[in-house]
Amino acid sequence: MSETKLDQLRKRLDEVNMSLLDLLSERARIAQEIGIEKEKQGVPKFDPVRENHMLAELTSANNGPFDDETIRHLFKHIFQASLKLQQVDHTKHLLVSRKKQKEDTIVSIRGVEVGGGSPIMIAGPCSVESYEQVRQVAAHLKTSGITVMRGGAFKPRTSPYDFQGLGIEGLRILKEVADEFGLRTISEIVDPAHIELACQYIDVIQIGARNMQNFELLKAAGDIRKPILLKRGLAATIDEFLHAAEYIVSRGNTQVMLIERGIRTYEKATRNTLDISALPILKQESHLPVLVDVTHSTGRKDILAPCAKAALAAGADGVMVEVHPNPATALSDAQQQLNFEEFTRFYDDVRNFTLVPR
Ligand code: PEP
Ligand code: MN
Repeated sequence: MSETKLDQLRKRLDEVNMSLLDLLSERARIAQEIGIEKEKQGVPKFDPVRENHMLAELTSANNGPFDDETIRHLFKHIFQASLKLQQVDHTKHLLVSRKKQKEDTIVSIRGVEVGGGSPIMIAGPCSVESYEQVRQVAAHLKTSGITVMRGGAFKPRTSPYDFQGLGIEGLRILKEVADEFGLRTISEIVDPAHIELACQYIDVIQIGARNMQNFELLKAAGDIRKPILLKRGLAATIDEFLHAAEYIVSRGNTQVMLIERGIRTYEKATRNTLDISALPILKQESHLPVLVDVTHSTGRKDILAPCAKAALAAGADGVMVEVHPNPATALSDAQQQLNFEEFTRFYDDVRNFTLVPR
C-alpha cells in the first residue's frame, strides 16, 4: 500500500520530535553544568534578567507560525524544567535524616544516654511551683531510680490569666534541687534571649509544641552545645517536625531529641491524639532519639501505661510523664499529673514491660 500524504507528514513529525528530544536533552545537560558552576560560585540558580533576555532574543527571531506569546510560553516551560534540574533536593540531604547518617545519634544528658538502646523514663511536674514542691518530686523520683527530671519554669498557657511559671527563679529551683539529688533536668525555654542563661541552670532545653516552628528559637538552640528536646507541634506533619530539628542540627548542635506529644484531631476522648505511627516513621527517617510524652498526648491518667507500652513497642527511646506531689492543687495540668503512688505503679508496670526482649 502506498504511503499517504498524512503518513509522510507524520513520519517527518516523528523525526522532528526525535531531533527536539535530542536538543532538549543537550540543553538540559548544559543547564546542569551551569547549575554546578552557580553552586560553586554561590550565586542563585534563578536569574530572571537572563531569562528575560533569552525570551526577548527568541521572540525577536521568531518568524511564526507560532505567535510571540506562544513561544514565550513554550520556552518558559523549558526554563522551569531546567531550573528544577539545577536545584538540589535538600530534603534528600537533611542532616537529621538516616540517609545522611546511618547510626543512631546518642544524646548524652551529662552522662545519661538517650537513644542508645535502653529506653529512658523522664518524669516531673508540669510546672515548677515552689522549692518544696520540686524537692518532694525529686526525692520520690530518686528513690524510684529516675535520673532525669522535667519541670516547666516558662509556661506557654492558652490563657494569659493562667499561671505563667516562675521564670528564671524556677530554673534556679530546678538546679538547686537537682544538685542535691544528683538529677539531670529538662525545662522549656520560650525566648531565644533566655537560652544562654538557662544553660547555667538546666541540662536539656525543651522547645515546646507551640514553638516548634519558632525559627529564631530553633536557631538559638542550634547555636548552643547542650541537648535539646524538641516537641512536635500541635498540628505539625512529620516532615515539618524533621525540618524544625534540621534548623537546630544545621547550626552545629547535633544533640537533639524528638518527642511526639500528640496532635490535634477531631477526637475528644483524649486531649490530643497520640500518633503512634510517627514513632517507627521518625525512627526510619531520622537517626535522632525519639521519645513520647504520654501525659500531654493523652491528657488522662487512666491510659498512660498502655500508651507508654505502645510507644516503647513502636521503638521509642523514652517516655515522659508528669508527676506532682498533690495533682489536685497543681497550678497547671492538675487533671493529668500522677501522684507519687500512681507514678510508682505506672513505672513498675512500664518497666516490667521493657524487660520483654524487643
Ligand atoms: C510541657 O511539656 O510542659 C508542655 C507545655 O508540653 P507541650 O509543649 O507538648 O504542650
Ligand atoms: Mn503539662
